[in-house]
Amino acid sequence: MTDLLVIGGGLAGSEAAYQAAARGLKVRLYEMRPSMQTGAHQTHDLAELVCSNSLGSNLPDRASGLLKNELRILGSLLLECAESSSLPAGGALAVDRELFARLVTKRIESHRNIEVVREEVTEIPNSPAIIASGPLTSPALSRSIAALSGEEHLFFFDAISPIVHADTINMEIAFRASRYGTGEQDEGDYINCPFTREEYYAFVQALLNAERIELRSFEDAIRNGVKAGHFFEGCLPVEIIAGRGIDSLAFGPMRPVGLRDPRTGNRPYAVVQLRQDNLAGSLYNLVGFQTNLKFPEQKRVLRLIPGLENAEFIRYGQMHRNTFIASPTLLRPTLQHIQRDDLFFAGQITGVEGYMGNIATGLLAGINAARLHHHEEPIALPQTTMLGALCHYITHASLKDFQPMKANFGILPALDTTSKHGKRERAGAYAERALADLTFALSGVTLSLSKGNAVEAHDK
Ligand SMILES: Cc1cc2nc3c(=O)[nH]c(=O)nc-3n(C[C@H](O)[C@H](O)[C@H](O)COP(=O)(O)OP(=O)(O)OC[C@H]3O[C@@H](n4cnc5c(N)ncnc54)[C@H](O)[C@@H]3O)c2cc1C
Repeated sequence: MTDLLVIGGGLAGSEAAYQAAARGLKVRLYEMRPSMQTGAHQTHDLAELVCSNSLGSNLPDRASGLLKNELRILGSLLLECAESSSLPAGGALAVDRELFARLVTKRIESHRNIEVVREEVTEIPNSPAIIASGPLTSPALSRSIAALSGEEHLFFFDAISPIVHADTINMEIAFRASRYGTGEQDEGDYINCPFTREEYYAFVQALLNAERIELRSFEDAIRNGVKAGHFFEGCLPVEIIAGRGIDSLAFGPMRPVGLRDPRTGNRPYAVVQLRQDNLAGSLYNLVGFQTNLKFPEQKRVLRLIPGLENAEFIRYGQMHRNTFIASPTLLRPTLQHIQRDDLFFAGQITGVEGYMGNIATGLLAGINAARLHHHEEPIALPQTTMLGALCHYITHASLKDFQPMKANFGILPALDTTSKHGKRERAGAYAERALADLTFALSGVTLSLSKGNAVEAHDK
C-alpha cells in the first residue's frame, strides 16, 4: 500500500521522498534514469548535480547560507549528505558530486518506507503525489502537466560550463588564490588564470567570432507556440555576456577583484577562476563559464586563456531546456496545486532556481504531503524566512514577468529598523530575524510528528 508517489529522483524529489518517509508514509519514488535519459544527467544516481558542484555560500549572512541554516533546523537529508562530501571552496559549500549523489542514493534506497521505481511517469497521478521532475521533465509528463494546468508551461534556455583536467593547467602562469585571501586552504581554493588587457581583448574577440551550436530544437519549440527566449541571468553563456560590451566579462565572471598575480604583484586586468570539481582534485570547472560554442571552437577559444593553452577538456559547455510551470496561477505557498490538495510540485519545475532552493522546496513538499496524510494543515513558512519568501515569490509574482528566482535578500520583507546601515549588517539582521521566525513558527506546529514517528534510514 503506497501513501505517496514522488516523481523525479533529483534534488527536490529525493529530499521530498525522505521527509515524507521519515514521517511514516509509504513512498514510491519514480526516477526514469537510466532507462530514459535527460540529456544532461550522466549517471543513474539520485540527486545528481548536473553542472556546478557548488551549493552556494555557507556564510550565515548570505542568502544561500541562511537557506542552509533553515534547512539544518528543518532536518534536510541532502544538506547532511552535502556536508559529508564537501570540498574546500572558500566560504561556499562545494561537494564531490559523485560522492554526494552516491550518499543520497544509499540513504534513499535503504529506507524501509521508500520504494524506488526506475520508470518514466507519463501522466499526473490521481492519487497523492509530488511532481519533482525538474527542468528536463520528460515530454510525455510535460504534456500531462500542460493539460492539467490549462496554461502553457514555460520553456527557456540555460547553459553549463566546461571541466578540465587539473594536471593540464599550466601553473607557471595560473596561480592558486581565493579572493581577498578568504579561502580554507592556505594556498587558496581556486586556480586563477590572469589576463593582461591585450590578452583579454584578444580573447573576447575570439569568443565573439567563434561558431555557436544552432538552437534548432528550441527554435522549433518557439515556432510551435511555446513561450521562450530567456537565459537564467546567473547562468548566461559567456559569449552572450561578451556581446553586451567589450568589458562586460571583466566586470562579470572574469572580474579580478581581490586577486593579485604573484608573478607581477599586480591585479590582473581580468581572471578566469577554476574551482575543484572532485575530491581527488583532478578536475576543475571554469567558474561562470557556461557556453554554447561548438565543441572544437570551445577547445580552440578556451585554450587562449593564459594557463589553459594545453588544457584537456573532460566536458564541454552545453545549452539545455528548462521547463517550469506558471506557479503564480497554479500553486499555493504550501506547494499544493490550487485545484488539488493532494498534488504538490517541488524543485526547479516550480520556478525556484539554485540547488539549495530546489532541495528546500522538496523538503517542504515532503513535510506537507505527510501533514495532509496525517490530517494536519499543510504549513506555509513565514515570508521572513528564505524558504517562505521563495514559496511566496513563486506563488505571488506577476505572471507576465515570471522568472525563476533564487534565494536572495531582495525577496524578504523590509526590516522594521532603519538603524542597520551597512549591507552586511542588514544581511545579518535579515538572517537573525528569519531564524527566530522559523523557530517560532515551528514551535506552533506538530512537525514533531516526525520526531515521534521518525523512521530512520538504513533499516531496510
Ligand atoms: C544542464 C543544466 C545545468 C544546470 N546548472 C545548474 C547550476 O550550476 N546550479 C544550479 O543551482 N542549478 C543548475 N541547474 C538547475 C538544476 O537542474 C537544479 O538546480 C536542480 O537539479 C533541480 O532540482 P530538481 O530536483 O528540480 O530537478 P532534477 O535534479 O533535474 O531532478 C529531476 C529528476 O526527475 C527525473 N524525471 C524527469 N521526468 C521524469 C518522468 N516523467 N518520470 C520519472 N522521472 C522523471 C529526471 O531524470 C531527474 O532525475 C542546471 C540544470 C541543467 C539542466
